[in-house]
Amino acid sequence: MTECPGCRLKFPDQHLDPPERTNASGECFSLYSDLMCYTVAKQDPEFIHQHVVDTYAAQHAGGPARTITVAFGLIGLYLALEKGYTGRQVQLAHVKIARKRKVWPRLEPPRQQAVLTVIDVLQAGTDGEKDTMIREWMAAVWDSWGDRQEWVRATTDELLTFF
Ligand SMILES: [Zn+2]
Repeated sequence: MTECPGCRLKFPDQHLDPPERTNASGECFSLYSDLMCYTVAKQDPEFIHQHVVDTYAAQHAGGPARTITVAFGLIGLYLALEKGYTGRQVQLAHVKIARKRKVWPRLEPPRQQAVLTVIDVLQAGTDGEKDTMIREWMAAVWDSWGDRQEWVRATTDELLTFF
């Protein structure tokens, strides 16, 4: 078995190389790629794919993860869960924020990992159940970052307000 250094998912070892810019096992990252195939193929106007990218990034902080990737993941979760943004709206907000701010602090992963991981979404049966599970996964990962939520809210609101 391998254990993912990000989400702690245990999965049979397939001897996959870990990704270069994500704190994940190769096996976990492969599952993430499978899920991305599903969300990209949907071509839904809300662009749920963005939520998957953000949730996975926020759950795989630390190690080789880029500071901006983790911060943007958390910003995306905040805007989606607390401000009701669609994935498409989050994507536009990311573009605006990226123009405003170039340097991001390193956010260390929370001590307590979220109870849901990418595999819980993949194991959901129907497309509707998968989409529901994506929302639950988002909320679980956002909750795990409780200590950083105030910083994320304040930083995001400031950057979007004074644009
Ligand atoms: Zn993982």
